[in-house]
Amino acid sequence: MLAQLHTDILVLGSGGAGLFAALHAKQADPRLSVTVAVKGLLGKCGCTRMVQGGYNVALAQGDSVERHFMDTIEGGKWLPDQDLAWKLVTLAVERIHELENELGCFFDRNPDGTVHQKAFAGQTFDRTVHKGDLTGIEIINRLAEQVWARDIGRLEEHRAVELVRAADGDGIAGVLFIDMRTGEYRFVRARAVLLATGGGPTMYKYHTPSGDKSCDGLAMALRAGLALRDMEMVQFHPTGLLAGTHTRMTGTVLEEGLRGAGGYLLNGDKERFMSRYDAKGERATRDIVSRAMFAEMRAGRTTPNGGLYISMQHLERAEVGRQFKGMVERCADCGFDLAGGLVEVVPTAHYMMGGVEFRADCSTSLRGLYVAGEDSGGVHGANRLGGNGVANSTVFGAVAGDTMAAHARDLPLRAPDRAAIDAAIARCERPFSAPGGNVNEVREALYELMWDKVGIIRSGADLQAARERLQALRDALAASGIRDATRAYNLTWHDRLNLENLLEVSAAITAAALAREDSRGAHFREDFPEAGPLERSAYTSVRQVEDELVVAMKPVAFTRVRPGESLL
Ligand SMILES: Cc1cc2nc3c(=O)[nH]c(=O)nc-3n(C[C@H](O)[C@H](O)[C@H](O)COP(=O)(O)OP(=O)(O)OC[C@H]3O[C@@H](n4cnc5c(N)ncnc54)[C@H](O)[C@@H]3O)c2cc1C
Repeated sequence: MLAQLHTDILVLGSGGAGLFAALHAKQADPRLSVTVAVKGLLGKCGCTRMVQGGYNVALAQGDSVERHFMDTIEGGKWLPDQDLAWKLVTLAVERIHELENELGCFFDRNPDGTVHQKAFAGQTFDRTVHKGDLTGIEIINRLAEQVWARDIGRLEEHRAVELVRAADGDGIAGVLFIDMRTGEYRFVRARAVLLATGGGPTMYKYHTPSGDKSCDGLAMALRAGLALRDMEMVQFHPTGLLAGTHTRMTGTVLEEGLRGAGGYLLNGDKERFMSRYDAKGERATRDIVSRAMFAEMRAGRTTPNGGLYISMQHLERAEVGRQFKGMVERCADCGFDLAGGLVEVVPTAHYMMGGVEFRADCSTSLRGLYVAGEDSGGVHGANRLGGNGVANSTVFGAVAGDTMAAHARDLPLRAPDRAAIDAAIARCERPFSAPGGNVNEVREALYELMWDKVGIIRSGADLQAARERLQALRDALAASGIRDATRAYNLTWHDRLNLENLLEVSAAITAAALAREDSRGAHFREDFPEAGPLERSAYTSVRQVEDELVVAMKPVAFTRVRPGESLL
Protein backbone atom coordinates (compact mmCIF):
# COMPACT_ATOMS: atom_id res chain seq x y z
CA MET A 1 0.00 0.00 0.00
CA LEU A 2 1.45 3.36 -1.05
CA ALA A 3 1.27 6.02 1.66
CA GLN A 4 -0.54 9.12 0.35
CA LEU A 5 -0.84 12.71 1.50
CA HIS A 6 -2.71 15.72 0.13
CA THR A 7 -1.73 19.36 0.18
CA ASP A 8 -2.80 22.39 -1.82
CA ILE A 9 0.73 23.61 -2.49
CA LEU A 10 3.80 21.38 -2.43
CA VAL A 11 7.24 23.00 -2.41
CA LEU A 12 10.25 20.84 -3.26
CA GLY A 13 13.38 22.19 -1.56
CA SER A 14 14.07 24.55 1.32
CA GLY A 15 16.65 26.94 -0.11
CA GLY A 16 15.98 30.61 -0.72
CA ALA A 17 13.50 29.76 -3.48
CA GLY A 18 11.54 27.11 -1.56
CA LEU A 19 11.29 28.99 1.73
CA PHE A 20 10.32 32.30 0.13
CA ALA A 21 7.69 30.49 -1.93
CA ALA A 22 6.19 28.80 1.15
CA LEU A 23 6.08 32.06 3.13
CA HIS A 24 4.56 34.08 0.29
CA ALA A 25 1.97 31.43 -0.57
CA LYS A 26 0.86 31.17 3.06
CA GLN A 27 0.76 34.92 3.46
CA ALA A 28 -1.24 35.40 0.26
CA ASP A 29 -3.88 32.85 1.24
CA PRO A 30 -3.63 31.45 4.80
CA ARG A 31 -6.44 28.95 4.14
CA LEU A 32 -4.31 27.00 1.68
CA SER A 33 -2.32 24.07 3.02
CA VAL A 34 1.35 24.50 2.14
CA THR A 35 3.94 21.73 2.57
CA VAL A 36 7.71 21.95 2.13
CA ALA A 37 9.35 18.62 1.27
CA VAL A 38 13.11 18.45 1.40
CA LYS A 39 15.89 15.94 0.99
CA GLY A 40 17.76 17.25 4.03
CA LEU A 41 16.63 19.12 7.14
CA LEU A 42 14.75 22.37 6.66
CA GLY A 43 17.12 25.29 7.16
CA LYS A 44 20.22 23.08 7.18
CA CYS A 45 20.68 22.02 3.57
CA GLY A 46 21.04 23.39 0.07
CA CYS A 47 23.30 26.13 -1.27
CA THR A 48 21.50 29.27 -0.15
CA ARG A 49 22.83 28.52 3.31
CA MET A 50 26.32 28.41 1.83
CA VAL A 51 26.15 31.86 0.21
CA GLN A 52 29.26 33.70 1.23
CA GLY A 53 29.69 36.87 -0.79
CA GLY A 54 26.21 38.30 -0.86
CA TYR A 55 23.18 39.61 -2.69
CA ASN A 56 23.13 42.01 -5.67
CA VAL A 57 20.65 44.82 -5.48
CA ALA A 58 20.64 48.39 -6.74
CA LEU A 59 20.19 50.41 -3.52
CA ALA A 60 22.97 52.95 -3.38
CA GLN A 61 22.92 56.47 -4.73
CA GLY A 62 24.35 56.49 -8.21
CA ASP A 63 23.30 52.90 -8.89
CA SER A 64 20.06 51.99 -10.64
CA VAL A 65 18.02 48.95 -11.64
CA GLU A 66 18.81 49.83 -15.26
CA ARG A 67 22.53 49.58 -14.53
CA HIS A 68 22.04 46.28 -12.68
CA PHE A 69 19.98 45.06 -15.65
CA MET A 70 22.63 46.04 -18.21
CA ASP A 71 25.36 44.34 -16.17
CA THR A 72 23.21 41.19 -16.07
CA ILE A 73 22.51 41.23 -19.81
CA GLU A 74 26.08 42.00 -20.82
CA GLY A 75 27.46 39.50 -18.29
CA GLY A 76 25.05 36.92 -19.73
CA LYS A 77 26.35 37.67 -23.26
CA TRP A 78 22.92 38.72 -24.49
CA LEU A 79 21.41 35.30 -23.85
CA PRO A 80 19.27 36.07 -20.77
CA ASP A 81 15.52 36.29 -21.14
CA GLN A 82 15.20 40.05 -20.74
CA ASP A 83 11.83 40.03 -19.00
CA LEU A 84 13.12 37.58 -16.41
CA ALA A 85 16.29 39.63 -15.90
CA TRP A 86 14.23 42.80 -15.49
CA LYS A 87 12.07 41.08 -12.89
CA LEU A 88 15.23 39.97 -11.10
CA VAL A 89 16.75 43.43 -10.76
CA THR A 90 13.52 45.28 -9.91
CA LEU A 91 12.12 42.79 -7.39
CA ALA A 92 15.52 42.30 -5.71
CA VAL A 93 14.96 45.75 -4.19
CA GLU A 94 11.65 44.62 -2.64
CA ARG A 95 13.10 41.31 -1.41
CA ILE A 96 16.11 42.87 0.30
CA HIS A 97 13.78 45.23 2.19
CA GLU A 98 11.58 42.28 3.12
CA LEU A 99 14.62 40.33 4.30
CA GLU A 100 15.76 43.23 6.48
CA ASN A 101 12.57 44.79 7.71
CA GLU A 102 10.10 41.90 7.90
CA LEU A 103 12.25 38.82 8.32
CA GLY A 104 14.94 40.37 10.52
CA CYS A 105 18.20 39.86 8.64
CA PHE A 106 21.13 41.98 9.80
CA PHE A 107 23.38 43.01 6.92
CA ASP A 108 26.67 44.89 7.31
CA ARG A 109 26.33 48.68 7.40
CA ASN A 110 28.41 51.74 6.66
CA PRO A 111 29.26 54.20 9.47
CA ASP A 112 26.41 56.45 8.23
CA GLY A 113 23.89 53.63 8.72
CA THR A 114 23.34 52.78 5.06
CA VAL A 115 23.69 49.18 3.96
CA HIS A 116 27.27 48.32 2.98
CA GLN A 117 27.62 47.07 -0.60
CA LYS A 118 30.82 45.54 -1.85
CA ALA A 119 32.49 44.98 -5.20
CA PHE A 120 31.89 41.76 -7.12
CA ALA A 121 33.46 40.88 -10.45
CA GLY A 122 31.68 41.81 -13.68
CA GLN A 123 29.66 44.64 -12.16
CA THR A 124 29.99 48.34 -12.85
CA PHE A 125 28.88 49.33 -9.34
CA ASP A 126 29.57 48.03 -5.83
CA ARG A 127 26.12 46.54 -5.13
CA THR A 128 26.59 43.31 -3.20
CA VAL A 129 24.79 43.37 0.17
CA HIS A 130 26.31 40.97 2.69
CA LYS A 131 26.72 39.84 6.25
CA GLY A 132 30.49 39.46 6.56
CA ASP A 133 31.37 36.58 4.28
CA LEU A 134 28.66 34.24 5.59
CA THR A 135 25.56 35.91 4.17
CA GLY A 136 23.57 32.74 3.43
CA ILE A 137 23.43 31.56 7.03
CA GLU A 138 21.81 34.85 8.03
CA ILE A 139 19.23 34.62 5.24
CA ILE A 140 18.31 30.96 5.69
CA ASN A 141 18.16 31.11 9.48
CA ARG A 142 15.70 34.01 9.41
CA LEU A 143 13.59 32.38 6.66
CA ALA A 144 13.51 29.02 8.44
CA GLU A 145 12.44 30.66 11.73
CA GLN A 146 9.51 32.27 9.94
CA VAL A 147 8.49 28.98 8.30
CA TRP A 148 8.71 27.14 11.63
CA ALA A 149 6.52 29.82 13.23
CA ARG A 150 3.74 29.37 10.68
CA ASP A 151 1.27 26.64 9.90
CA ILE A 152 3.39 25.20 7.08
CA GLY A 153 3.77 21.43 6.76
CA ARG A 154 7.24 19.87 6.65
CA LEU A 155 8.39 16.60 5.14
CA GLU A 156 12.08 16.46 5.99
CA GLU A 157 14.48 13.83 4.70
CA HIS A 158 11.99 13.19 1.93
CA ARG A 159 13.60 12.71 -1.43
CA ALA A 160 11.46 13.58 -4.46
CA VAL A 161 11.99 10.93 -7.13
CA GLU A 162 9.35 11.64 -9.81
CA LEU A 163 6.96 14.34 -10.96
CA VAL A 164 3.77 12.38 -11.64
CA ARG A 165 1.31 13.52 -14.27
CA ALA A 166 -2.44 13.25 -13.87
CA ALA A 167 -4.09 10.06 -15.12
CA ASP A 168 -5.90 12.10 -17.79
CA GLY A 169 -2.58 13.65 -18.87
CA ASP A 170 -3.75 17.17 -18.03
CA GLY A 171 -1.08 18.61 -15.77
CA ILE A 172 0.74 17.37 -12.69
CA ALA A 173 -1.02 15.27 -10.04
CA GLY A 174 1.75 15.23 -7.44
CA VAL A 175 5.18 13.93 -6.54
CA LEU A 176 6.52 10.53 -5.56
CA PHE A 177 8.97 10.54 -2.64
CA ILE A 178 11.16 8.19 -0.70
CA ASP A 179 10.96 8.84 3.04
CA MET A 180 14.69 8.45 3.60
CA ARG A 181 14.24 7.66 7.30
CA THR A 182 12.24 4.51 6.59
CA GLY A 183 12.85 3.87 2.91
CA GLU A 184 9.11 3.83 2.24
CA TYR A 185 7.54 5.39 -0.82
CA ARG A 186 5.03 8.16 -0.37
CA PHE A 187 2.90 9.95 -2.93
CA VAL A 188 1.92 13.56 -2.24
CA ARG A 189 -0.98 14.90 -4.27
CA ALA A 190 -1.05 18.63 -4.78
CA ARG A 191 -2.85 21.28 -6.77
CA ALA A 192 0.37 23.17 -7.39
CA VAL A 193 3.97 21.94 -7.14
CA LEU A 194 7.10 24.10 -7.03
CA LEU A 195 10.36 22.66 -8.27
CA ALA A 196 13.08 24.38 -6.22
CA THR A 197 15.69 21.67 -5.69
CA GLY A 198 18.53 23.95 -6.73
CA GLY A 199 20.35 22.32 -9.67
CA GLY A 200 23.96 21.86 -8.58
CA PRO A 201 26.73 20.73 -10.97
CA THR A 202 28.17 18.05 -8.73
CA MET A 203 29.13 15.83 -11.68
CA TYR A 204 32.48 17.64 -11.99
CA LYS A 205 35.68 16.58 -10.24
CA TYR A 206 35.88 19.90 -8.40
CA HIS A 207 32.54 21.35 -7.30
CA THR A 208 31.13 23.70 -4.68
CA PRO A 209 27.46 22.82 -4.04
CA SER A 210 26.15 21.04 -0.98
CA GLY A 211 26.21 17.24 -0.99
CA ASP A 212 22.41 16.95 -1.12
CA LYS A 213 22.36 18.50 -4.58
CA SER A 214 22.53 16.14 -7.53
CA CYS A 215 20.40 17.84 -10.18
CA ASP A 216 17.38 15.81 -9.02
CA GLY A 217 14.89 18.47 -10.09
CA LEU A 218 16.40 18.82 -13.55
CA ALA A 219 16.46 15.05 -14.06
CA MET A 220 12.83 14.78 -12.93
CA ALA A 221 11.89 17.61 -15.30
CA LEU A 222 13.63 15.86 -18.20
CA ARG A 223 11.84 12.60 -17.43
CA ALA A 224 8.55 14.53 -17.27
CA GLY A 225 9.18 15.84 -20.81
CA LEU A 226 9.89 19.49 -19.91
CA ALA A 227 12.32 21.60 -21.92
CA LEU A 228 15.55 22.77 -20.25
CA ARG A 229 17.30 25.84 -21.64
CA ASP A 230 20.96 26.98 -21.55
CA MET A 231 22.12 23.63 -20.18
CA GLU A 232 25.60 24.03 -21.66
CA MET A 233 26.11 27.02 -19.37
CA VAL A 234 27.83 25.60 -16.30
CA GLN A 235 29.60 28.22 -14.24
CA PHE A 236 33.01 27.53 -12.80
CA HIS A 237 34.04 29.65 -9.85
CA PRO A 238 37.71 30.52 -10.25
CA THR A 239 38.80 30.00 -6.67
CA GLY A 240 37.93 26.60 -5.29
CA LEU A 241 40.15 25.54 -2.42
CA LEU A 242 42.67 22.92 -3.46
CA ALA A 243 43.76 21.04 -0.39
CA GLY A 244 44.51 17.55 -1.73
CA THR A 245 42.40 14.52 -2.55
CA HIS A 246 42.03 13.40 1.08
CA THR A 247 39.62 16.16 2.07
CA ARG A 248 36.09 17.14 1.02
CA MET A 249 37.22 20.76 1.51
CA THR A 250 38.84 20.53 -1.93
CA GLY A 251 36.54 22.28 -4.39
CA THR A 252 34.76 24.42 -1.77
CA VAL A 253 34.67 28.04 -2.74
CA LEU A 254 36.79 30.97 -1.62
CA GLU A 255 34.56 33.90 -2.34
CA GLU A 256 34.80 36.37 -5.17
CA GLY A 257 35.18 39.30 -2.76
CA LEU A 258 38.82 38.22 -2.31
CA ARG A 259 39.52 39.21 -5.90
CA GLY A 260 37.19 42.19 -5.56
CA ALA A 261 39.27 43.39 -2.58
CA GLY A 262 42.49 43.20 -4.61
CA GLY A 263 43.61 39.57 -4.33
CA TYR A 264 46.14 38.34 -6.93
CA LEU A 265 46.13 35.07 -8.81
CA LEU A 266 49.58 33.55 -9.31
CA ASN A 267 50.65 30.52 -11.29
CA GLY A 268 52.99 27.80 -10.04
CA ASP A 269 55.97 30.02 -11.00
CA LYS A 270 54.49 32.69 -8.64
CA GLU A 271 53.82 34.93 -11.66
CA ARG A 272 50.70 37.14 -11.74
CA PHE A 273 49.17 36.10 -15.05
CA MET A 274 45.63 37.49 -15.42
CA SER A 275 46.69 40.68 -17.26
CA ARG A 276 47.92 38.44 -20.10
CA TYR A 277 44.31 37.30 -20.62
CA ASP A 278 42.08 40.29 -19.81
CA ALA A 279 42.52 43.99 -19.11
CA LYS A 280 40.29 43.70 -16.01
CA GLY A 281 42.80 41.24 -14.54
CA GLU A 282 41.50 39.33 -11.52
CA ARG A 283 38.26 41.33 -11.63
CA ALA A 284 37.19 39.94 -14.98
CA THR A 285 34.05 37.77 -14.97
CA ARG A 286 34.19 34.20 -13.67
CA ASP A 287 34.23 32.60 -17.11
CA ILE A 288 37.25 34.60 -18.27
CA VAL A 289 39.21 34.05 -15.07
CA SER A 290 38.42 30.32 -14.99
CA ARG A 291 39.47 29.90 -18.59
CA ALA A 292 42.74 31.77 -18.02
CA MET A 293 43.44 29.58 -14.98
CA PHE A 294 42.65 26.42 -16.93
CA ALA A 295 45.04 27.54 -19.70
CA GLU A 296 47.82 28.11 -17.15
CA MET A 297 47.17 24.69 -15.69
CA ARG A 298 47.19 23.05 -19.12
CA ALA A 299 50.52 24.73 -19.81
CA GLY A 300 51.87 23.00 -16.71
CA ARG A 301 52.51 26.13 -14.62
CA THR A 302 50.91 24.63 -11.52
CA THR A 303 51.24 24.37 -7.75
CA PRO A 304 52.15 21.11 -5.94
CA ASN A 305 48.51 19.94 -6.01
CA GLY A 306 48.10 20.83 -9.69
CA GLY A 307 46.32 24.20 -9.28
CA LEU A 308 47.28 27.87 -8.88
CA TYR A 309 47.56 30.33 -5.98
CA ILE A 310 45.52 33.19 -4.62
CA SER A 311 47.56 35.74 -2.72
CA MET A 312 46.30 38.41 -0.32
CA GLN A 313 49.68 38.94 1.35
CA HIS A 314 50.28 42.33 -0.30
CA LEU A 315 47.18 43.67 1.50
CA GLU A 316 46.93 44.65 5.14
CA ARG A 317 46.76 41.45 7.17
CA ALA A 318 44.38 42.74 9.85
CA GLU A 319 41.97 44.07 7.22
CA VAL A 320 41.90 40.75 5.34
CA GLY A 321 41.24 39.00 8.65
CA ARG A 322 38.43 41.41 9.45
CA GLN A 323 36.74 41.32 6.04
CA PHE A 324 37.14 37.62 5.36
CA LYS A 325 37.03 35.98 8.76
CA GLY A 326 35.18 32.89 7.54
CA MET A 327 37.55 32.37 4.59
CA VAL A 328 40.65 32.84 6.78
CA GLU A 329 39.36 30.19 9.19
CA ARG A 330 38.45 27.76 6.40
CA CYS A 331 41.92 28.10 4.88
CA ALA A 332 43.59 27.68 8.28
CA ASP A 333 41.64 24.42 8.75
CA CYS A 334 43.39 23.16 5.62
CA GLY A 335 46.84 24.42 6.60
CA PHE A 336 46.84 27.66 4.55
CA ASP A 337 47.41 31.22 5.79
CA LEU A 338 45.04 33.29 3.63
CA ALA A 339 45.91 36.69 5.12
CA GLY A 340 49.69 36.25 5.05
CA GLY A 341 50.62 33.50 2.59
CA LEU A 342 49.62 31.67 -0.57
CA VAL A 343 46.54 29.46 -0.86
CA GLU A 344 46.20 26.79 -3.56
CA VAL A 345 43.07 27.16 -5.70
CA VAL A 346 41.45 25.56 -8.75
CA PRO A 347 38.37 26.49 -10.82
CA THR A 348 35.41 24.61 -9.39
CA ALA A 349 31.95 23.84 -10.84
CA HIS A 350 29.63 26.18 -9.01
CA TYR A 351 26.32 26.97 -10.59
CA MET A 352 23.99 25.97 -13.42
CA MET A 353 22.67 28.87 -15.44
CA GLY A 354 20.56 26.33 -17.31
CA GLY A 355 17.28 24.92 -16.09
CA VAL A 356 13.59 24.48 -16.75
CA GLU A 357 12.08 26.94 -19.24
CA PHE A 358 9.53 29.09 -17.43
CA ARG A 359 7.36 32.17 -17.70
CA ALA A 360 7.83 35.33 -15.63
CA ASP A 361 5.13 34.16 -13.16
CA CYS A 362 7.14 30.93 -12.62
CA SER A 363 4.65 28.69 -14.40
CA THR A 364 5.95 26.00 -16.78
CA SER A 365 4.56 24.09 -19.75
CA LEU A 366 3.16 21.44 -17.36
CA ARG A 367 -0.07 22.72 -15.79
CA GLY A 368 0.28 22.98 -12.01
CA LEU A 369 4.09 22.80 -12.06
CA TYR A 370 6.10 25.92 -11.20
CA VAL A 371 9.83 26.44 -10.97
CA ALA A 372 12.13 28.91 -9.19
CA GLY A 373 15.79 29.34 -8.24
CA GLU A 374 18.67 27.37 -9.67
CA ASP A 375 16.32 24.74 -11.17
CA SER A 376 15.07 27.40 -13.57
CA GLY A 377 16.76 28.60 -16.76
CA GLY A 378 16.86 31.89 -18.63
CA VAL A 379 17.53 34.54 -15.98
CA HIS A 380 21.31 34.62 -16.36
CA GLY A 381 21.99 33.49 -19.93
CA ALA A 382 25.62 32.53 -20.46
CA ASN A 383 27.01 33.75 -17.17
CA ARG A 384 25.64 34.46 -13.71
CA LEU A 385 27.08 37.47 -11.97
CA GLY A 386 28.28 36.71 -8.45
CA GLY A 387 25.51 37.93 -6.14
CA ASN A 388 22.72 37.35 -8.69
CA GLY A 389 22.20 33.73 -7.57
CA VAL A 390 20.61 34.32 -4.21
CA ALA A 391 18.77 37.33 -5.66
CA ASN A 392 17.35 34.95 -8.29
CA SER A 393 16.21 32.32 -5.81
CA THR A 394 14.58 34.77 -3.38
CA VAL A 395 12.95 36.93 -6.08
CA PHE A 396 11.46 34.07 -8.07
CA GLY A 397 10.69 32.01 -4.97
CA ALA A 398 8.46 34.85 -3.81
CA VAL A 399 6.91 35.24 -7.28
CA ALA A 400 6.18 31.50 -7.36
CA GLY A 401 4.56 31.62 -3.91
CA ASP A 402 2.30 34.48 -4.95
CA THR A 403 1.39 32.84 -8.27
CA MET A 404 0.67 29.43 -6.77
CA ALA A 405 -1.55 30.97 -4.09
CA ALA A 406 -3.46 32.88 -6.76
CA HIS A 407 -3.94 29.80 -8.98
CA ALA A 408 -4.23 26.94 -6.50
CA ARG A 409 -7.97 27.17 -5.95
CA ASP A 410 -8.61 26.90 -9.69
CA LEU A 411 -6.36 23.86 -10.03
CA PRO A 412 -8.06 20.54 -9.22
CA LEU A 413 -6.53 17.78 -7.08
CA ARG A 414 -6.01 15.26 -9.86
CA ALA A 415 -5.86 11.48 -9.82
CA PRO A 416 -2.29 10.36 -10.59
CA ASP A 417 -1.16 8.13 -13.44
CA ARG A 418 -0.73 4.95 -11.41
CA ALA A 419 1.39 3.28 -14.08
CA ALA A 420 3.86 6.17 -13.91
CA ILE A 421 4.13 5.76 -10.14
CA ASP A 422 4.75 2.01 -10.52
CA ALA A 423 7.39 2.62 -13.18
CA ALA A 424 9.18 5.16 -10.97
CA ILE A 425 9.16 2.76 -8.01
CA ALA A 426 10.50 -0.02 -10.24
CA ARG A 427 13.32 2.29 -11.38
CA CYS A 428 14.24 3.14 -7.78
CA GLU A 429 14.12 -0.53 -6.75
CA ARG A 430 16.36 -1.73 -9.60
CA PRO A 431 19.66 -1.34 -7.67
CA PHE A 432 18.51 -3.97 -5.17
CA SER A 433 18.30 -6.66 -7.84
CA ALA A 434 21.16 -5.63 -10.14
CA PRO A 435 24.32 -7.76 -9.94
CA GLY A 436 27.85 -6.55 -8.87
CA GLY A 437 29.33 -3.36 -10.25
CA ASN A 438 30.95 -0.47 -8.43
CA VAL A 439 29.03 2.78 -7.93
CA ASN A 440 32.13 4.62 -6.77
CA GLU A 441 34.07 3.74 -9.91
CA VAL A 442 31.24 5.13 -12.03
CA ARG A 443 31.23 8.34 -10.00
CA GLU A 444 34.99 8.83 -10.27
CA ALA A 445 34.83 8.19 -14.01
CA LEU A 446 32.01 10.73 -14.37
CA TYR A 447 34.00 13.37 -12.43
CA GLU A 448 37.03 12.97 -14.69
CA LEU A 449 34.99 12.82 -17.89
CA MET A 450 33.01 16.00 -17.22
CA TRP A 451 36.10 17.91 -16.05
CA ASP A 452 38.25 16.83 -19.03
CA LYS A 453 35.76 16.86 -21.89
CA VAL A 454 32.69 18.92 -20.92
CA GLY A 455 34.40 21.46 -18.69
CA ILE A 456 35.98 24.88 -19.04
CA ILE A 457 37.41 24.46 -22.55
CA ARG A 458 35.43 22.23 -24.93
CA SER A 459 35.65 20.92 -28.49
CA GLY A 460 33.32 18.98 -30.81
CA ALA A 461 35.55 15.92 -30.74
CA ASP A 462 35.71 15.88 -26.93
CA LEU A 463 31.97 16.39 -26.60
CA GLN A 464 31.23 13.54 -29.04
CA ALA A 465 33.56 11.28 -27.08
CA ALA A 466 31.89 12.34 -23.84
CA ARG A 467 28.46 11.55 -25.23
CA GLU A 468 29.48 7.98 -26.00
CA ARG A 469 31.30 7.52 -22.71
CA LEU A 470 28.30 8.81 -20.76
CA GLN A 471 26.12 6.13 -22.32
CA ALA A 472 28.70 3.51 -21.29
CA LEU A 473 28.68 4.89 -17.74
CA ARG A 474 24.89 4.75 -17.64
CA ASP A 475 25.04 1.10 -18.69
CA ALA A 476 27.69 0.42 -16.05
CA LEU A 477 25.56 2.07 -13.39
CA ALA A 478 22.46 0.17 -14.46
CA ALA A 479 24.40 -3.04 -13.87
CA SER A 480 25.63 -1.88 -10.43
CA GLY A 481 23.72 -3.35 -7.55
CA ILE A 482 23.55 -2.57 -3.86
CA ARG A 483 24.43 -5.32 -1.41
CA ASP A 484 22.73 -3.86 1.66
CA ALA A 485 18.97 -4.32 1.16
CA THR A 486 18.06 -2.17 4.19
CA ARG A 487 15.78 0.65 3.14
CA ALA A 488 16.04 2.94 6.19
CA TYR A 489 18.81 5.53 5.83
CA ASN A 490 20.49 3.52 3.12
CA LEU A 491 22.85 6.21 1.91
CA THR A 492 24.45 3.92 -0.67
CA TRP A 493 21.04 3.61 -2.30
CA HIS A 494 20.59 7.39 -2.34
CA ASP A 495 24.10 7.85 -3.64
CA ARG A 496 23.22 5.51 -6.48
CA LEU A 497 20.01 7.44 -7.22
CA ASN A 498 21.98 10.71 -7.14
CA LEU A 499 24.41 9.35 -9.67
CA GLU A 500 21.61 8.25 -11.99
CA ASN A 501 20.29 11.83 -12.05
CA LEU A 502 23.75 13.30 -12.50
CA LEU A 503 24.36 11.05 -15.50
CA GLU A 504 21.05 12.06 -17.10
CA VAL A 505 21.74 15.74 -16.63
CA SER A 506 25.37 15.38 -17.77
CA ALA A 507 24.01 13.99 -21.04
CA ALA A 508 21.77 17.07 -21.39
CA ILE A 509 24.73 19.42 -20.73
CA THR A 510 26.80 17.58 -23.34
CA ALA A 511 24.01 17.61 -25.94
CA ALA A 512 23.46 21.35 -25.49
CA ALA A 513 27.22 22.03 -25.60
CA LEU A 514 27.49 20.11 -28.88
CA ALA A 515 24.60 22.08 -30.35
CA ARG A 516 26.06 25.50 -29.48
CA GLU A 517 28.67 26.12 -32.15
CA ASP A 518 29.98 29.38 -30.74
CA SER A 519 31.57 30.60 -27.54
CA ARG A 520 29.59 32.64 -25.05
CA GLY A 521 30.25 33.21 -21.37
CA ALA A 522 30.70 29.92 -19.56
CA HIS A 523 30.62 27.90 -22.78
CA PHE A 524 33.89 27.98 -24.73
CA ARG A 525 34.51 25.83 -27.83
CA GLU A 526 38.10 25.71 -29.11
CA ASP A 527 36.69 24.78 -32.51
CA PHE A 528 34.22 27.74 -32.48
CA PRO A 529 36.00 30.41 -30.41
CA GLU A 530 33.92 33.38 -31.67
CA ALA A 531 30.73 34.62 -29.99
CA GLY A 532 28.88 34.91 -33.31
CA PRO A 533 26.54 37.80 -34.19
CA LEU A 534 24.83 39.03 -31.04
CA GLU A 535 21.71 40.14 -32.99
CA ARG A 536 21.13 36.51 -33.94
CA SER A 537 21.56 35.19 -30.39
CA ALA A 538 19.81 31.88 -29.79
CA TYR A 539 19.53 29.67 -26.75
CA THR A 540 19.57 25.90 -26.55
CA SER A 541 16.45 24.06 -25.51
CA VAL A 542 16.86 20.36 -24.72
CA ARG A 543 14.08 17.83 -24.22
CA GLN A 544 13.96 14.11 -23.68
CA VAL A 545 11.78 12.43 -26.30
CA GLU A 546 11.47 8.69 -25.66
CA ASP A 547 15.08 7.89 -24.77
CA GLU A 548 16.65 10.52 -27.03
CA LEU A 549 17.73 14.06 -26.17
CA VAL A 550 16.53 16.56 -28.76
CA VAL A 551 18.11 20.04 -28.87
CA ALA A 552 16.54 23.07 -30.56
CA MET A 553 18.10 26.52 -30.99
CA LYS A 554 15.53 29.23 -30.21
CA PRO A 555 16.02 32.95 -30.90
CA VAL A 556 16.43 35.28 -27.90
CA ALA A 557 13.71 37.95 -27.85
CA PHE A 558 15.28 41.37 -27.20
CA THR A 559 12.20 42.75 -25.47
CA ARG A 560 13.91 45.66 -23.71
CA VAL A 561 17.26 46.35 -25.30
CA ARG A 562 19.08 45.21 -28.44
CA PRO A 563 22.79 44.44 -28.78
CA GLY A 564 24.67 47.71 -29.19
CA GLU A 565 22.02 49.65 -27.23
CA SER A 566 21.87 50.43 -23.53
CA LEU A 567 19.20 51.45 -21.03
CA LEU A 568 21.68 53.85 -19.39
C1 LIG B 1 29.55 27.78 -1.69
C2 LIG B 1 28.56 28.61 -2.42
C3 LIG B 1 28.62 29.99 -2.30
C4 LIG B 1 27.71 30.78 -2.98
N1 LIG B 1 27.78 32.13 -2.82
C5 LIG B 1 26.89 32.92 -3.46
C6 LIG B 1 26.92 34.33 -3.29
O1 LIG B 1 27.74 34.88 -2.57
N2 LIG B 1 25.97 35.07 -3.92
C7 LIG B 1 25.00 34.50 -4.72
O2 LIG B 1 24.19 35.22 -5.27
N3 LIG B 1 24.96 33.16 -4.90
C8 LIG B 1 25.88 32.36 -4.29
N4 LIG B 1 25.83 31.00 -4.47
C9 LIG B 1 24.75 30.45 -5.31
C10 LIG B 1 23.48 30.36 -4.50
O3 LIG B 1 23.72 29.61 -3.36
C11 LIG B 1 22.37 29.70 -5.29
O4 LIG B 1 22.21 30.44 -6.45
C12 LIG B 1 21.02 29.74 -4.60
O5 LIG B 1 21.18 29.66 -3.22
C13 LIG B 1 20.14 28.62 -5.05
O6 LIG B 1 18.95 28.64 -4.30
P1 LIG B 1 17.85 27.52 -4.49
O7 LIG B 1 16.77 27.80 -3.52
O8 LIG B 1 17.51 27.41 -5.93
O9 LIG B 1 18.59 26.15 -4.12
P2 LIG B 1 19.24 25.64 -2.74
O10 LIG B 1 19.41 26.73 -1.76
O11 LIG B 1 20.44 24.86 -3.09
O12 LIG B 1 18.14 24.66 -2.17
C14 LIG B 1 17.82 23.44 -2.79
C15 LIG B 1 16.96 22.61 -1.85
O13 LIG B 1 16.42 21.50 -2.55
C16 LIG B 1 16.58 20.32 -1.78
N5 LIG B 1 16.58 19.16 -2.65
C17 LIG B 1 17.50 18.77 -3.57
N6 LIG B 1 17.12 17.64 -4.18
C18 LIG B 1 15.92 17.29 -3.65
C19 LIG B 1 15.02 16.22 -3.85
N7 LIG B 1 15.26 15.24 -4.72
N8 LIG B 1 13.89 16.17 -3.09
C20 LIG B 1 13.60 17.13 -2.17
N9 LIG B 1 14.44 18.18 -1.95
C21 LIG B 1 15.57 18.26 -2.68
C22 LIG B 1 17.89 20.56 -1.05
O14 LIG B 1 18.01 19.71 0.07
C23 LIG B 1 17.73 22.03 -0.68
O15 LIG B 1 16.94 22.17 0.46
C24 LIG B 1 26.74 30.19 -3.81
C25 LIG B 1 26.69 28.80 -3.94
C26 LIG B 1 27.60 28.02 -3.26
C27 LIG B 1 27.53 26.54 -3.43
